[in-house]
Amino acid sequence: MAWSTIRRLMSEAPNLATEQLTIIVGTGADSKSFYVHEDLLQAHSDFFAAALHKGWKEAEDRIVRLPTERPVHFGLFAHFVYFGKIYSAQMKPEGEGREARGTRATAELDMLHACWLMGDRLMAVAFKDAVVDTFIQTCTDDRRTPTSMHEAVYAGTAGPNGLRSLLVDYAVWKWKKGAIAEREVDELWVEFFRDFAIRICEVTEEEREGPAPYHQYDCRYHEHAAASKPCYRS
Ligand SMILES: [Zn+2]
Repeated sequence: MAWSTIRRLMSEAPNLATEQLTIIVGTGADSKSFYVHEDLLQAHSDFFAAALHKGWKEAEDRIVRLPTERPVHFGLFAHFVYFGKIYSAQMKPEGEGREARGTRATAELDMLHACWLMGDRLMAVAFKDAVVDTFIQTCTDDRRTPTSMHEAVYAGTAGPNGLRSLLVDYAVWKWKKGAIAEREVDELWVEFFRDFAIRICEVTEEEREGPAPYHQYDCRYHEHAAASKPCYRS
């Protein structure tokens, strides 16, 4: 580990000597309460920073309700703000077959893309960037190519973003002609295929045969630069 990854300005440390906030996620029997330090929430999420604005009801009650989010997704976010890791992987069983591996990895990718969309709603840039990296790592470790979450990602976001670009690059580098021809294209797929066509025009045949961009471990699918924030890896 390089020293630069561990040493930080004392003044930048989140203040943990503050009260915790109650975040009630989900509704009814499926809801769950989380208790998170206010300073950390504000540092990680512009949504919480706005909700905790002085004089607002949430700031007075010290309770924020997120009825449309899922506790399992918010749990990943809460772990990330405290520990800087994405706890999304399932233990790989001994002697796991190809099909079981596919099911396990697909479930993780489904959860990760949903977490990224929640991060988008919470305006939590570092979390989104960490989730997009975890998404790539899951695809690599379990040899998966994303094929199914495009509708949700395109319907759930407006305009270009890191996860859309990543899905497009996977399609450009990995999808086979037959799979594209067989795909039923409804309205939600149209925007994706437009981005796909544009990307195909940008890259040469040589580039497509070379290493895929998502294996380069750089910041191309991150959003911190646009938000003038540091990379979560720094
Ligand atoms: Zn970055």
